[in-house]
Amino acid sequence: MRSAPPDAVVVGSGPNGMAAAVTLARAGLGVEVFEAQPSIGGGARTLDLGLAPGITHDMCSAVHPLAIASPFFEEFDLRARGLELTVPEVSYAQPFDDGPAALAFHDLEQTVERLGAAGPEWRRFFGPLLGRVDDSIWLSLGDKRSLPPTLRDLHGLANIARFGARLLSQAGPAWNLPLSHEHTQSLFTGVSSHVIGRLPGMATAATATLLALLAHDVGWPSPVGGSQAIIDELVDDLEAHGGAVITDARIDHVSDLPSASAYLLDTSALDAARIFSGVMPARIDRALKGFKQGNAAAKVDLVVSDPVPWRDPEVSRAGTVHLGGTRGQMAAAEADVVAGRMPRQPVCLVSDPTLFDPTREVDGLRPLWTYCHVPFDCPLDPTEYIIRQIERFAPGFRDTIVAHSSVPASRMAKHNQNHVGGDIGNGGFSFYRMFARPRSSWHNYDLGVPGAYLCSSATPPAPGVHGMSGWFAARRALRNRFGISRTPCLAPSL
Ligand SMILES: Cc1cc2nc3c(=O)[nH]c(=O)nc-3n(C[C@H](O)[C@H](O)[C@H](O)COP(=O)(O)OP(=O)(O)OC[C@H]3O[C@@H](n4cnc5c(N)ncnc54)[C@H](O)[C@@H]3O)c2cc1C
Repeated sequence: MRSAPPDAVVVGSGPNGMAAAVTLARAGLGVEVFEAQPSIGGGARTLDLGLAPGITHDMCSAVHPLAIASPFFEEFDLRARGLELTVPEVSYAQPFDDGPAALAFHDLEQTVERLGAAGPEWRRFFGPLLGRVDDSIWLSLGDKRSLPPTLRDLHGLANIARFGARLLSQAGPAWNLPLSHEHTQSLFTGVSSHVIGRLPGMATAATATLLALLAHDVGWPSPVGGSQAIIDELVDDLEAHGGAVITDARIDHVSDLPSASAYLLDTSALDAARIFSGVMPARIDRALKGFKQGNAAAKVDLVVSDPVPWRDPEVSRAGTVHLGGTRGQMAAAEADVVAGRMPRQPVCLVSDPTLFDPTREVDGLRPLWTYCHVPFDCPLDPTEYIIRQIERFAPGFRDTIVAHSSVPASRMAKHNQNHVGGDIGNGGFSFYRMFARPRSSWHNYDLGVPGAYLCSSATPPAPGVHGMSGWFAARRALRNRFGISRTPCLAPSL
């Protein structure tokens, strides 16, 4: 640890906390990061859970289009730092009870070909956006306050209008009009499962439109060795610029922290209110406490002896598999979750990293990453729900299971206190909450205390390993607290 007091303190070492820390350190400031858990990385940790010797599991995130496409990571440039990413030929798959699965290839034309009669409408939906993906990325991953910097000309405006039209088409009751075939509908709805909410809806449609577009652009890559490799690069950069991360350091109040000119919190809105209790203006305290949790996820990590025996073997070409069947079946399961009922067949996400990264296999065993959507704070063990859902599309799967570990929604916060009640979005996500996150204010990274900022996924642009919330909050702190208006260069060569 540095001997001089830090200029800036970051609470929480998730991707946003680390993005903030790196940005501040790159501006020449002394930075210390305080992390409650014994390990660094929040939602991008890869840990040995003790299920089988040498096997490691991605605790939260596993698949990372945003860590390539986000403007923060584009600047930080993970690949130029030597991070190896595997990009599956098939970004994601949607198996059905009968017949062949729908597949979204990295390559749009291969997807169109596989979809057969439904292919042209998929091409009409995504093809026109692929020429200038940056506009869609900035619109989705911006601070929801400023215009995308890529908006230089009429082409950019037209492109954003195209993206918006597609998003809106999937957010309301007419969602089957542009995607009229069961395979295209279900493929798109599977991507919506990266947000947990009512279908159709604005938040699910916005996330799905971006992620499905990125599947045909950067693809859906995963780092060799697991998500932790992303965090390791951020930590290396921070340390190379004089910063430090202190683990096992849960912060309950600002008085637990060293004195600094800026405090950036990669925490929940509730924790931010707690940390600045007695100091924060009452109206902001009330607003933060009024930022309600969203729907939840429950996690099951498995060790298996073989690849998942999908009924349609083509599914094994995909990095991510969305389970839930047809659009109608998934919408019904999500409606149960929103209503607080455990669905009989919950929407599940599955990834077998060993298919593309042989380093994950040890002595013939491999990790399998899964989670499912459940009601907020649900105490049920998700294991049987997930196994049954995989068996539905991969008979015989159960026989490959060697060990497993599960975390019900009600216990998710033990591993990351931002996930209260299993809300992995760190606060509800809706059209309103895309903007008013965590509160309705033009300056929503500010906590109303001089030098205090929220920099987690409780702020725009919301969840995902993109580092954007941390980057935006750090840039605001640099401007307002340190008089530095130039965004520091994050390029690896410095
Ligand atoms: C099961 C699951 C699967 C996911 N899959 C993907 C995926 O495949 N791709 C993707 O892009 N995203 C995925 N996500 C979402 C992604 O992980 C998060 O959106 C992202 O990690 C949020 O980053 P963050 O820095 O805001 O917060 P987090 O990553 O949650 O990190 C917050 C950190 O702050 C620490 N902290 C909180 N409060 C305190 C305190 N008071 N004192 C000290 N430390 C504190 C926590 O311990 C934690 O380490 C997934 C999430 C989950 C849970």
